[in-house]
Amino acid sequence: MSRIQIDAATKTFGAVTAVDAVTLDVRHGEFLVLLGPSGCGKSTLLRMIAGLTPLTSGRIRLAGQDVTHTPPRDRDLAMVFQSYALYPHLTVERNIGFPLRARGRSRAEIRTKVGEVAETLGLAELLGRRPRELSGGQRQRVALGRALVRDPGAFLMDEPLSNLDAKLRTATRAELTELHRELGSTFVYVTHDQVEAMTMATRIALLNGGRLEQVGTPEQVYDEPASVFVAGFLGSPPMNLLDATLVSRDGTLYLEAADVSLPLHYKGDLPTRDVVLGIRPEHLTHGDGLRGVVRNVENLGSEEIAHCLIGDARVCLRGPRPLSLQAGDAVTLSCRPEHIHLFDRTSGRRLV
Ligand code: ATP
Repeated sequence: MSRIQIDAATKTFGAVTAVDAVTLDVRHGEFLVLLGPSGCGKSTLLRMIAGLTPLTSGRIRLAGQDVTHTPPRDRDLAMVFQSYALYPHLTVERNIGFPLRARGRSRAEIRTKVGEVAETLGLAELLGRRPRELSGGQRQRVALGRALVRDPGAFLMDEPLSNLDAKLRTATRAELTELHRELGSTFVYVTHDQVEAMTMATRIALLNGGRLEQVGTPEQVYDEPASVFVAGFLGSPPMNLLDATLVSRDGTLYLEAADVSLPLHYKGDLPTRDVVLGIRPEHLTHGDGLRGVVRNVENLGSEEIAHCLIGDARVCLRGPRPLSLQAGDAVTLSCRPEHIHLFDRTSGRRLV
């Protein structure tokens, strides 16, 4: 079992709180992605799990054991970095086998284990080469192989795909997902790339300013973002966010935004009048509602994105090509009530 329990983990560097009381339970066998913008504390949190960065306060347990003060080599974890960190003078075979040699395993065992790992990762033909004779994607696989050969309880990965070109990244993403399924091990994976998070994760933990904003499956964080921050971080383009006011007339709640009232099918009391209205670009359609003007239309091949101005708010609409819109066109946009998200304007937390 390789459950990782993070309990109120905090790390401060002088006046900077890089990780702020994060509590997170990584289940055995899950692919947990730590996602968030640059500087939100993802790498620091991963290094805390690995034992490379000591905690200021809080604790970490691996498979039920408190490892808060355990050195990295005594934690049953393998780390894969963005920079690969391969030994340039060693062959692929010796690079992959390195952790086993360091542990004094027999030659026969090392040969067998390296052979198996090379087979799994499609590196069998390349065992005699040195890192400089490999492509970026192959180097990345060697780094992964070196982690795999140890058969660790969990894998920690810090942006391992960020040095690959877009096409290779897409292919490697799928390979990693398959590898995770085959191994059944726990993966904790750091990225700022929401597509990597959405496509590979069993759960996503979103960090903002060192704090955990939301933890959930990709569907949960996309469909029910817990805050304005999460709503505005996920999606390409992200969720449209407009200031709106809630009013109640004749028992129906209306959302007033940009000079129109949208009826809201919601029963019950809402705690505030001042809200942020959120609508995903793919949920906006032509219809009676928000009046605006098209500023620009982008062609993505199968889809188009229309950038519109509604009052002084920028709003994106995304749909199959052709949207039949051009810059300068007047538009009226609406969406189904169930696609409306509401957030408290002061706290940023989700209301509906
Ligand atoms: P990125 O995606 O850019 O790598 P990140 O989310 O991984 O960012 P961290 O590297 O964890 O963020 O950094 C979180 C915060 O802690 C940042 O403000 C960073 O400047 C600060 N920080 C990280 N390491 C140190 C350090 N050794 N000394 C001082 N400040 C640090």
